[in-house]
Amino acid sequence: MRYAETGFNLEVDLSTGNIEKVETDPKWTEQHIGGLGTNMKIMWDRVPPETEPFSPDNLLIFSSGLLCGTPAPGANRTMITTISPQTQFVAYSMMGGFFAPELKYAGYDKVIISGKSPKLVYLWINDDKVEIRDASHLAGKGAVETQEIIKKELNEPRAHVAAIGLAGENRVFFASIEQGRSSASRQGLGAVMGDKGLKAIAVRGTKDINIYKPEELVKLSEWALEYAMWRQANPVPGMIPIVAILGSPQEMLECDERWHTENFMWGNARNRRKGFWTPEIEEQWTKTQLGVRTRLISCYNCPLKCGALISVPGVSRYMMKCFTKLTYAMGAYVDDLEFGFRIAQRATEYGIDGFSGPQVMAFAVELLEAGILTEKDFEGCPEGNAERFYWLLDRIVRREGIGDILADGTYWAALKIGNGADAFAHNNIRKQEQAPLKLGMLNPIYYLMYCTNEKGNITQIEGQWPQMPYAKPEHREQFCKDWFQVPDEHFYEYFLKWEPRGEYSMPYYPDIKACCEIVDWMERMHTIDDACGVCTGISAFHLKPPYHLHNYPEFISYASGINMDYDELIKVSNRNRQLVRSVNVRRGYRRADDTPPEDHWKKRLPEYEKELMDAYCRFKGWNLDGVPTKESLQELDLAYIAEDFEQRGIYKDGED
Ligand code: SF4
Repeated sequence: MRYAETGFNLEVDLSTGNIEKVETDPKWTEQHIGGLGTNMKIMWDRVPPETEPFSPDNLLIFSSGLLCGTPAPGANRTMITTISPQTQFVAYSMMGGFFAPELKYAGYDKVIISGKSPKLVYLWINDDKVEIRDASHLAGKGAVETQEIIKKELNEPRAHVAAIGLAGENRVFFASIEQGRSSASRQGLGAVMGDKGLKAIAVRGTKDINIYKPEELVKLSEWALEYAMWRQANPVPGMIPIVAILGSPQEMLECDERWHTENFMWGNARNRRKGFWTPEIEEQWTKTQLGVRTRLISCYNCPLKCGALISVPGVSRYMMKCFTKLTYAMGAYVDDLEFGFRIAQRATEYGIDGFSGPQVMAFAVELLEAGILTEKDFEGCPEGNAERFYWLLDRIVRREGIGDILADGTYWAALKIGNGADAFAHNNIRKQEQAPLKLGMLNPIYYLMYCTNEKGNITQIEGQWPQMPYAKPEHREQFCKDWFQVPDEHFYEYFLKWEPRGEYSMPYYPDIKACCEIVDWMERMHTIDDACGVCTGISAFHLKPPYHLHNYPEFISYASGINMDYDELIKVSNRNRQLVRSVNVRRGYRRADDTPPEDHWKKRLPEYEKELMDAYCRFKGWNLDGVPTKESLQELDLAYIAEDFEQRGIYKDGED
């Protein structure tokens, strides 16, 4: 019997219309846990490095995680994996809501989409009955609207539907996949879905999942829930609101936006707006947010309610979470939050990423102001910051005029536009727009995270370790008292010594060795979350979360029967991490791609950065070009990757 997982994937070839339910190898679960881990194994085995994002051979994998649908709280993530049109590397964006548990209840761990449909279709998974249905009547429909239409026509209000909007259909490189209470927004997954002619996947499941030790798992899950609620009632002192409590993050609950509005860089990540958060703005924005926020909502089996249903007068209701609340209003310099909520509704229906979208539009405006784009490019564009953003959004998702070029994101658009436009595409890592944040002095921990994690978003990398030290030793001691999540006690030593100024402050303290260990811990927690399908909002993103390296083995063992302990968890997470890196290395990824935006910090320290990166490469078992070494791959039972690298000449002479 299989526990926690169903033991079956659904294979759908849209070119031939062939649908198969395929039993999976339980050894893969032991080696990779599931979710992103097994997605990457499939990408390595089945997607050769020459595969273009818009090739029928590119796969689009929707995967639950091992713990999804079990009593483990917040285990609801759908990991979507494909080759990104934006970065050309493997993309692994994820969404919450209810889709992944429902997929498991239908009897599948993953849906693996290959090929391309000649006409627009959607997939209907109703337990064992799976059909590809015509979606021509849904062409051009909004992503949220589509979900409602499909549920109505199937007469199945309990189905969960993941859909693309016009942006996905038109292969906008930053198109998202939207679904009920969440979306997978980064790296253009929606464009690949649109390229495959797949408008939506609807799923309804009524089966059970077997649990290996149900009583033990329920008890552990109850502890995690109680602890999560205790954390909500006892915010970590001295931290900004979104990291003081759990959630992903609590942008819909919190109205106080002084820190984000005044410290992020707005427009196309250009200007810090010191003094923006006046009492008048605070009053207006709070009133607007509370006025449009119909209610706070949670994902499957999570009490944290960090999404909200938003009802702006005159437009249909939608779900919002996270920073989209700010990115449009601040990116357009429209100091009216209602504009932010209103344009986000349109952008959600179109299905675009709330980080990249506004930056691309602000980039276009900057190019116009600099004379690189001209009035002719903006012919028919109304006056006014808000109107201009709406106009650009409409053109981008339709790929009309200048919108066709901008639809590829700032990096590729700058190449096409030329004439110095590349200087304005300044906030990219691996060709993708990042959170609009520019800071003063180099932060070595964040330097390593920004550089080396192949995820598209810093919030999906950071967590566990405080962003800043406490000034007073007694506060540091207090913080350590209930910090049982640390991998081992020497992390307390790093933290207790860490000070805002002086010998033990940034950028040289924590020292290089400590920085490597801290970053590795943070990244490892995300790697495990992504294999288990646990939301980072109740786990890796946070300080002192209910999930940690010491109880994850129990969660995994009780749910699945896999014999997991701390050491094995470390090994499996190392294996999954090396696999992600290796898929990308085979596609040409090297250390040169591990580069943050040049202006991310005002004060850079090139020699120290090199030392940091050299040390981190060694720490991770990579050579100095960022390629996993033969030895590290062999230790992790990934010798087949080392052989492949050897055959392809990826290891240079005398190097492994
Ligand atoms: S923390 Fe928030 S986003 Fe994450 S599962 Fe819970 S409600 Fe959903």
